[in-house]
Amino acid sequence: MTDFAGKTGLIVGVANKRSIAWAIAQATASRGARLALTYQGRFEENVQELSVGLPHPPLVLPCDVSSDDEIAAVFRRVEEELGGLDFLLHGAAFARREELSAPFVETTREGFRLALDISAYSLIALARGAAPLMEKRGGGSIVTLTYLGSERVFPNYNVMGVAKAALEANVRYLAADLGPKNIRVNAVSAGPIKTISAMGIGGFSSILGVYRDRAPLRRNVDTTEVGEAAAFLLSDASRGITGDVLMVDAGFHVTGI
Ligand code: NAD
Repeated sequence: MTDFAGKTGLIVGVANKRSIAWAIAQATASRGARLALTYQGRFEENVQELSVGLPHPPLVLPCDVSSDDEIAAVFRRVEEELGGLDFLLHGAAFARREELSAPFVETTREGFRLALDISAYSLIALARGAAPLMEKRGGGSIVTLTYLGSERVFPNYNVMGVAKAALEANVRYLAADLGPKNIRVNAVSAGPIKTISAMGIGGFSSILGVYRDRAPLRRNVDTTEVGEAAAFLLSDASRGITGDVLMVDAGFHVTGI
């Protein structure tokens, strides 16, 4: 169903083996995709080590998504080495630790700017870079990663909830903008998973417990489940779907009390 033979993809947001983006790299590479992986400075060694385990050796490039120059350099290299692009996975997000533990009303102007820039604006910048390379292939698929905190209040998620609301609006506007070029834009909304980013959220472990107790499937999800769902949205099997948010949270979002 999700065949990636002959396809090329750019994966942004691998920090270590627990990263959701890494599960998506594995899900697509194991089905034949040739990948470029980017890393944020301090994660270079991790990403280089992980990349050795993929079936086709990926291109590994630095990219701080708050830098337009680094983003431009990534797309130059991808064009040189891969020729074009069939899919893009955006899995970068950041908020300062203070912003994820202090009362929401204490959110600083700089903390707000940083969270929205790295976690939401970066999808627009990456989509703009990817679009010409996808047009060369007759279209493409872009997927980002979001969380239910965009719509509902979760303790300490704070400014990241606002960033995810902006990110999901970006998905809809980009889908409308790029749809005529046969470029689709969707999000996967994952349930809580213990990753480096998640551990920065005060009281995160108790959120995992609430999902286990209340989600229809009475459990949490893991990165492979999110990876498979994202691979579906990145593949031609989902060619009629754009501007959407696919929930992969063991059904938690349907519960009332
Ligand atoms: P992670 O820490 O493994 O990944 C976050 C990534 O963002 C890291 O690779 C980090 O390097 C990158 N990043 C941060 N600032 C960056 C910058 N300036 N430039 C480039 N990259 C930068 O954690 P994860 O949980 O796999 O997060 C991936 C995505 O999934 C995020 O958007 C996160 O909000 C989302 N998500 C996570 C959960 C969860 O519970 N873990 C749930 C729903 C959605």
